[in-house]
Amino acid sequence: IKKIGVLTSGGDSPGMNAAIRSVVRTCAYHNIGCVGIYRGYQGMIEGDFKEMGPRSVNNIVNKGGTILKSARSTEFRTPEGRIKAHKNLVDAGVDALVVIGGDGSFTGALLFNTEFDFPVIGIPGTIDNDIFGTSHTLGYDTALNTVVDVIDKIRDTASSHNRLFLIEVMGRDAGHIALNAGIGAGAEEILIPEEDLGLERLLDSLKKSKAAGKSSSIVVIAEGDKIGKSVFELKDYVESNFPEYDVRVSVLGHMQRGGSPSCFDRVLASRLGVKAVESLLEGQSNYMVGLLQDKITLTPLEQAIKGHTEIDLELLRVSDIMSI
Ligand code: ATP
Repeated sequence: IKKIGVLTSGGDSPGMNAAIRSVVRTCAYHNIGCVGIYRGYQGMIEGDFKEMGPRSVNNIVNKGGTILKSARSTEFRTPEGRIKAHKNLVDAGVDALVVIGGDGSFTGALLFNTEFDFPVIGIPGTIDNDIFGTSHTLGYDTALNTVVDVIDKIRDTASSHNRLFLIEVMGRDAGHIALNAGIGAGAEEILIPEEDLGLERLLDSLKKSKAAGKSSSIVVIAEGDKIGKSVFELKDYVESNFPEYDVRVSVLGHMQRGGSPSCFDRVLASRLGVKAVESLLEGQSNYMVGLLQDKITLTPLEQAIKGHTEIDLELLRVSDIMSI
C-alpha cells in the first residue's frame, strides 16, 4: 500500500477531526501518502481530493465537526456511482481507504470492497454509540458530557420553579446517551427504547419523587423511546394526570453533535487512526477498529453493521436506586 484515502461520511461527530489527524500522521510516520476525500462518498465520485501531510492537520485535534465535511450520497448507492469513485481513486494512486462514519458508511465500504477488491477499514464515528464491536464510538463521550452539562443548567431553573422537565436526547434507536447522561445528571426517570417501562410507572415514580420531598424532577427521554408518544404528547399526558407539576419540554437537538471533543474522544480517535492505518499496512481489510476492554481491536465490518452494543440494564437499576 502506497497511498491511503480518508473520508468522513454520514452524520458528523466530535472526534472525527482527531481521527483524520491520526490517519494522516500515521501515514506520514510510515512514509506512505495520504489523500483527504471531501464530502464522503460524494466527493469520491466527484474526485474532490487533497493530498495531506502532517502539517495539513495542525490545530484540529480540538475541533468539532469534520474538516473534510460529510455528506450522504445517493449516487454511491448505484453501481455507476461506485465505478466513478473507483476510477478516481485509481487515477489518484489511492490503494486503500479509511472510512470514518456509521453503519451506513460501513455498508457502502463493504460493497465497494466486494466490487473492486479495494482494502477498507472503518472507524466508528457517531454520537449514538449504536455500533457493535466497540464500547465507545467517536463522539459519544463528548455528547454525554454536553448533555450532562445542559441538564445541570436546566436543573438550576427547574428547582427554582418547582418544575418537571422532560428532556429529549439523541441516540436514534439506542438509549446509551439517555441512560448514561441521565444517571450522570441525576435524572428521576430515564426512558430508553430498549426497555419499555410504561406510562403508569412514570407517573408512579413522579408521585413518589414528589412525596419524597423533591422540589423538581428531570426525566430524560431517548428520541427512539418506544412509549409511543412524542415528548410533547407526554407532557400533556403527565399534566393531565398530575396537575401539581408545571411541565416543560426541552428537546436538546443538534447541540449534542457539536463542540470540542472530550479528552477521551481525542485519545480514542488517535488510537483508532493508528490502528486503522497499520491494519491496512499489514494487509487487513473489511474490519472496523474499536475499543473493547480498553484494547483497540478489529471487528469484521459485517458484524459491526449487523449488531448493536447492548445496553447494560444494570444501569437502569442503578438509576432507580439513585432516584429514591
Ligand atoms: P449515521 O449513523 O451518522 O447516520 P451512517 O454512516 O450510518 O452515519 P448513512 O447516511 O446511513 O450514515 O450512510 C452514509 C452514506 O453511506 C450514504 O449516504 C451512502 O452514500 C452510503 N451507503 C449507505 N448505505 C449504503 C448501501 N447499502 N450501499 C451503498 N452505499 C451506502
